[in-house]
Amino acid sequence: MQIRAVAPFLLILRSLRLGGIEMPTLFEKIIAGDLPATVVYRDPRVIAFLDIRPAAPVHILIVPNKPIPTANDIADEDESLIGHMFIVARDLARQRGIAESGYRLIINCNADGGQEVYHLHVHLLGGRPLGPLVARGKHLEKRNSDDE
Ligand code: AMP
Repeated sequence: MQIRAVAPFLLILRSLRLGGIEMPTLFEKIIAGDLPATVVYRDPRVIAFLDIRPAAPVHILIVPNKPIPTANDIADEDESLIGHMFIVARDLARQRGIAESGYRLIINCNADGGQEVYHLHVHLLGGRPLGPLVARGKHLEKRNSDDE
């Protein structure tokens, strides 16, 4: 069967939610220019734009053009791409004037990691003291009291 014949069906499949993951993701739509975003950086490998619900005065998402769903899906061949995302994050932190005051880079993975959009991204957060990394979980409080 010719690829031209199955192409429309492939497009329909990509528009469905496959295994709970929206395809294409919001970020693929932003990369394609089909969804608006405040883009602060772009090159052939990555795009960076402002988070729509900022958790800090500076909250930028650094997103690879390649649709890698989660950190689990990073391939060995993505090593330089992942490094590049961190170089872009470093440069944006400098540009936004938060390099010296400090910032946090976060990658959420899957449900327990709090991932909402299944297209790999680094959050660059800064511009205020960000506090502890995560709230202490109940299981840790229990373990600590058991130790006493
Ligand atoms: P995560 O929980 O790591 O998957 O983070 C997804 C992030 O994407 C959240 O911080 C959202 O606020 C952000 N987000 C969702 N939709 C958009 C959008 N259309 N433009 C910019 N940021 C978005």
